[in-house]
Amino acid sequence: MDAVNLLGFDLQGLAAYCEQLGEKRFRATQLFRWIHQKGASDFAQMSDLAKSLRDKLAGRAHITALPVISEHVSADGTIKWLFDVGQGNAVEAVYIPEDDRATLCISSQAGCAVGCRFCSTGHQGFSRNLETWEIVAQLWHAEHTLRQRLGKDERIISNVVMMGMGEPLQNYAALVPALRMMLDDHGYGLSRRRVTVSTSGVVPMIDRLREDVPVALAVSLHAPSDPLRDQLVPLNRKYPIAELLASCNAYLDKAPRDFITFEYCMLHEVNDSPEQARELIALLKGKVPCKLNLIPFNPFPASGLKRSSNERVKAFADLLIQAGIVTTVRKTRGDDIDAACGQLAGEVQDRTRVHLRMVRAPVVVQRDATSTGTAAPAPATTSSPVTPTGPRP
Ligand code: SF4
Repeated sequence: MDAVNLLGFDLQGLAAYCEQLGEKRFRATQLFRWIHQKGASDFAQMSDLAKSLRDKLAGRAHITALPVISEHVSADGTIKWLFDVGQGNAVEAVYIPEDDRATLCISSQAGCAVGCRFCSTGHQGFSRNLETWEIVAQLWHAEHTLRQRLGKDERIISNVVMMGMGEPLQNYAALVPALRMMLDDHGYGLSRRRVTVSTSGVVPMIDRLREDVPVALAVSLHAPSDPLRDQLVPLNRKYPIAELLASCNAYLDKAPRDFITFEYCMLHEVNDSPEQARELIALLKGKVPCKLNLIPFNPFPASGLKRSSNERVKAFADLLIQAGIVTTVRKTRGDDIDAACGQLAGEVQDRTRVHLRMVRAPVVVQRDATSTGTAAPAPATTSSPVTPTGPRP
């Protein structure tokens, strides 16, 4: 039988595993603390475990991190790790230190099948779901590498956002135990407010998350109407905006915060006109308690899209703020290492041919006084991986 990687067990799973070995369940708590709080990977280090248990574990289990392909450190302290997840696939995690917090943005899939028009990951296609241990290993590596490097014994990472590569709610079975490990007081001990799942709007899974592990929720909205969102976030054809907003409202019953964060990637003359700001206000105001996070687009050649100018972003934000909607414009971080959160781009071996389907018609925008009517057409992509451009919006 293959040795099992203990990074894949939440505390309950580890307790069941200990029972299988003929050990008391409470041993799992000790083991779990060694792994996640102390970053131990060698059973011999675990001095308060009986030698007989350590010997048993050494033959049957291991604690193994993901191999690191590269690490880039930005002048602003942002760090981007590229991890090898096998068979030519790589995923990224980004550490973003700020004055009052330190956030780690992590990936849930190698590639992504949703295919959002403005997302470099979406353009690469989908290879596979990450396993629980591969999701947690990104946090484990970042937390314990940084502790060692900074010579600290206390927690470094205060916030985790599932906003890297992949749609986390399309990898639900692996996601839930990973979230539980982040929240567990014997693990990373993060509060539910400090763990955020970002989704493009997988409505049935938002409903399940509300019951299973209601952490903070961020929703990639990106358009004020279905015709435009259908083009930017193809999942909208399955779960249109009205259904999505109803699910968000229901989520608030159990959410750790009293608002939903809506992400809105600002695309020049696609979704950034004053008229569209007014549509957005009509859509959200008084309907869903929310905050709007406007995200400067990270252009990449295959998208055929452009970043909105600062003036257009400001005008858009001002209209929302005047209407009483809390609105922020995301600061770009790690520009020198392509690490702006939200457009992670490792390399994946596409198994879905989604990158070929990306060769398609321009985004059609309803005309208004400031719009040209279409975004620039996307140039044909080839089967080679898209050049990494930094995390997804
Ligand atoms: S934005 Fe998120 S859901 Fe959309 S393609 Fe990118 S990774 Fe997938």
